[in-house]
Amino acid sequence: MNTRRTVTPPTTDFAHRLLRWFDRHGRHDLPWQRDTSAYRVWVSEIMLQQTQVKTVIPYFERFMAAFPTVQALAAAPVDDVLHLWTGLGYYARARNLHRAAQQVCTEHGGSFPACVDTLEALPGIGRSTAGAIVSIAFGQRAVILDGNVKRVLARHQAIDGWPGQTAVHRSLWQVADDFTPAARSADYTQAIMDLGATLCTRGKPRCSDCPVASDCAALASGRQADYPGRKPKKALPVKQTTLLIAVAASGEVYLQQRPATGIWGGLWCFPELEGSGQCERLCLDLWGLAPLSLSPGQTFRHTFSHYHLDITPVVAHLPATPAAIMASDGQLWYNRAQPARVGLAAPVARLLASL
Ligand code: SF4
Repeated sequence: MNTRRTVTPPTTDFAHRLLRWFDRHGRHDLPWQRDTSAYRVWVSEIMLQQTQVKTVIPYFERFMAAFPTVQALAAAPVDDVLHLWTGLGYYARARNLHRAAQQVCTEHGGSFPACVDTLEALPGIGRSTAGAIVSIAFGQRAVILDGNVKRVLARHQAIDGWPGQTAVHRSLWQVADDFTPAARSADYTQAIMDLGATLCTRGKPRCSDCPVASDCAALASGRQADYPGRKPKKALPVKQTTLLIAVAASGEVYLQQRPATGIWGGLWCFPELEGSGQCERLCLDLWGLAPLSLSPGQTFRHTFSHYHLDITPVVAHLPATPAAIMASDGQLWYNRAQPARVGLAAPVARLLASL
């Protein structure tokens, strides 16, 4: 494995070449670039983890309209935050965003600290996100290493191995630090992210347009596809579950709020059962009503990072409309014509849309 190497002379103007390219070809009009306050940079960075720019833009605009300041976000009910996150996935990001906003208000007087270490102490902010905030919002030299940057640097320096391994991770941070210039830190951060997102892409890197191609080790050896190294494959286990979609006579659908921890933490979901044989029993237990019909739907797969979940939905039509219940009790009759502002697990949103 190639661990840290000394940066050879041709790479010393890496930043210079990248910045020259960025001035002419980089992205300069993304919504979070128009006003680079720490709050906006932070929200955009969290949304952009695991999610592409074009998907993030409408979510970011809606989020900023609802919560224009860190104070507004801190004061909002977490359900409102999860509601605006519905569809983006990785909901721990939204819960951490909310908790971090509250900490910024209570511990930092409502202003983000311009310090990587202090930012890293906030929920959901890692070293790279902290570096992006300090460089872009505060214009100070700080190093970033998000997924795009890892790919660029692993290729350019031919760093073998999966970045999740400590030695590889350390090498990448060292190169990232070596290449980050003292001046124009905000532009450099944006530039290297842009290079990874637009030219040095995972599938087909456009090396002929790349400003750092002349000394790219992966290009020289024709091994772009080998970097960064893949995570050693492990077959994911498969689990099964049944979701009971209880539809009241008036058309509302029953949802329960999940516990704060575990899968879909804090989101709203149909009751989960071990098998369809328990559906009628649950309807009787919850509402004293036997369903008019029970219709199992097509089983489909939802994949989490650590397992596959095969979901079988069962639609139960109830003969009456049970008494109203309060969302504050963790239960809800969800009216699809006037949806409540709650966060929905992605398969739940999909099943509601298909009803
Ligand atoms: S030359 Fe190709 S592989 Fe190397 S950094 Fe540029 S785009 Fe990526």
